Amino acid sequence: MLNFEEAKKTILNLVHPFGIVTLPFNEARNYFLAEDIAAEENVPAFDNSAMDGFAVHSEDVKNVPIEMKISGEVSAGNVSEIELNRGEAIAIFTGARIPQGCDAVVQQEWTEKIDELYVRILQTVKPRQNIRFVAEDITKGEIILHHGQRINAVEIGVLASLGKKNVCVHRSLRCAILSTGNELINIDEEIHDGKIRNSNECVLEAMLREHQCEVVNLGIAKDNIEELRTKISEGLKHDVFITSGGVSVGKYDFVAEALRQLGVEIFFSGVNIKPGKPFLFGLYNSNPVFGLPGNPVSAMMTFLQFVKPALLKMQGSLISKLESHYTLSAVMENEYRKNDFKRHFVRGVVQQKNGKYFVRTLENQSSNSISSMARANCIIIVPEETQRICIGSTVEIEML
Ligand code: AMP
Ligand code: MG
Repeated sequence: MLNFEEAKKTILNLVHPFGIVTLPFNEARNYFLAEDIAAEENVPAFDNSAMDGFAVHSEDVKNVPIEMKISGEVSAGNVSEIELNRGEAIAIFTGARIPQGCDAVVQQEWTEKIDELYVRILQTVKPRQNIRFVAEDITKGEIILHHGQRINAVEIGVLASLGKKNVCVHRSLRCAILSTGNELINIDEEIHDGKIRNSNECVLEAMLREHQCEVVNLGIAKDNIEELRTKISEGLKHDVFITSGGVSVGKYDFVAEALRQLGVEIFFSGVNIKPGKPFLFGLYNSNPVFGLPGNPVSAMMTFLQFVKPALLKMQGSLISKLESHYTLSAVMENEYRKNDFKRHFVRGVVQQKNGKYFVRTLENQSSNSISSMARANCIIIVPEETQRICIGSTVEIEML
């Protein structure tokens, strides 16, 4: 059976970024850039004041306090051809263009108004002080956003300040989901005759939407090959197909067989992890097929560990970013023991105390305990070879 790292590597080697579309920059939130963005302009476009105050020549305010004549005013957004006469000051406001002859701005708080025409400068300024110089933030020609970078509000701001109207991004993914199991009923039905509600469907739909995917929900398939084949053929028409349940070794687990019959190439079925061991991965016409185990925690965990990185790569995120998973180090507050050589993903609660993270495991680690997943705020990674984690030892955690 594959170890976790081998399984994840297999998937990430076999999935690829999807097609490229051009979108208006302000509709591209959450998409990944399919191009480098080079600045076509300088930002700022001109030297301007970082403060409200008085534009001066720094040499003229070497000895303070000093009274100066106010020879004019420049405000933000106005073009003024005013030039500084040495020994005088020009009233200036944040964002206004620095007038010819000035090399610094004295902030208003360091001045005293005498009357409309005169000001007293109370403190000296160095050359360049309180001036935002042309191209100081972004220089024309500079690559300011990179291929593979996610566009969030901040990146939208950068594009807006550069006047970049359209951007090339990887298109969003259409993902089909199918729940399998004779025991499943829709979530709005009353529980009867040993049935359970199809909560996985809702979890998967929500997780996919969180990742900007379009979701096609194929509902529930009963545990028989014919019904599975019919619904699976529908699912295989989409960019990504995800099933839950029916991938284990039980008498009613027919998903792998149905996938094979329909021409899905299964790369592995089963990973050396807990929870989530029966997880299956295959390809159909180069598109990924993920078979998640039915237990709610197993389904969520395998989604987070395998499906999510694959989606990110298909959406155009750089692989190097995927590898630098957001893990933290934390100190264990209780002991954890295991007696197998699987990688365990343990639900935990992490707290910060005096700048350090401390984590404890939740008591209920059962793979059907959906509430324990809600109580947890992190996953503790217990490596394959580790049999016992002592109180006080350092572990790796992933935030939920
Ligand atoms: P399976 O992987 O099909 O053997 O399912 C394992 C267990 O997961 C079942 O006994 C159910 O309790 C649970 N389960 C399966 N599918 C779902 C689902 N869609 N929603 C919630 N629980 C499920
Ligand atoms: Mg089942």
